[in-house]
Amino acid sequence: MHKTAFIWDDKYLDYSFPGDHPFKSLREAMTKKFLEERGAFHEIDIVKPKIISEELLSLIHSKEYIEFVKKKSETGEGLLDDGDTPAFKGIFEASLIRVSGTVTAVELIGNSSYDHAVNVGGGFHHAKRSEASGFCVFNDVALGIKLAERKLKKIALIDIDGHHGDGTQYLLYDDPNVLKVSLHMYHQRFFPGTGSEEEIGEGNGKGLTINIPLPPGTADDMYLYAFNEIVVPKVKEFKPDLIFLLNGGDAYYEDPLVELKLSTKGYLEVVRTIHSLSHQLSNGRLIMTGGGGYNYEATARIWTLSIAEIAGLDFTEFENLEDCCFIASSEFVKKRVMEIVEKLKKIHGIK
Ligand SMILES: [Zn+2]
Ligand SMILES: [Zn+2]
Repeated sequence: MHKTAFIWDDKYLDYSFPGDHPFKSLREAMTKKFLEERGAFHEIDIVKPKIISEELLSLIHSKEYIEFVKKKSETGEGLLDDGDTPAFKGIFEASLIRVSGTVTAVELIGNSSYDHAVNVGGGFHHAKRSEASGFCVFNDVALGIKLAERKLKKIALIDIDGHHGDGTQYLLYDDPNVLKVSLHMYHQRFFPGTGSEEEIGEGNGKGLTINIPLPPGTADDMYLYAFNEIVVPKVKEFKPDLIFLLNGGDAYYEDPLVELKLSTKGYLEVVRTIHSLSHQLSNGRLIMTGGGGYNYEATARIWTLSIAEIAGLDFTEFENLEDCCFIASSEFVKKRVMEIVEKLKKIHGIK
């Protein structure tokens, strides 16, 4: 019922920016270690990613951009965007294997080998068609979803990373088969600056992009309120054949880059609901990727507990990974989130 694949290759660890750059593959390594130590791989299968061709990659990225990344990868010098995403030697191969992991996850779900597939090495939601952005080189999420559409009719993407999933949103903006939900911190001067409630999709995809812009300080209580009032009814109404969860760990209350205030328990509550929705609506088809997360240990803990939940593992082994209590939002934040939820209900016709 919860047959789960964990997509992994030790080469994932190569995708780690040098020096004091915040994006480190330590999170992925720790997640695998936490799972190993608790015997999880007696019940979860480790599956290696199958490397995809450049041809497949060009479904969502321009040939020129792919060539640009390859060149930068040879020298390892300079930047891939205007500041956040430096090149390093081998960045092309390191990015390609991680995108391949998400494509492998899609294949395993598409051919019904597994109910659930997890690629903690994926979740690069800021990458655009011809542009790297926010530590993301190739957009595995958009590519995975495009490929999933060949077998499955409708896909719901739920992005709980603390940042707006802008790259994925724009790559799939007019796609009528994909419901795109992103919950993220929103503030004028906060990266990437998009993701307001007014962005709802275009063309045939109009109404299928749902942005939930949360104020800094949003904690478990109001995050879950918005999630349950907006995301749950919309996903139920959409009846997806596959749910795709982008589980960025940077909405955590002690993340150094984002000021949302989710506890590990808050994360677990969200993942539990999504897992349950996958069984209610999508014949169990659920893919989880990683994403951001700059408090490395907390991110690894969030991912480990999420995977345990998805795989239906006995939680007694995992309990000591939990941190603090539920966290409450301030009165100011409560009021703001209530207003946003009311506005979203009007925009998206939710009763
Ligand atoms: Zn399950
Ligand atoms: Zn993020």
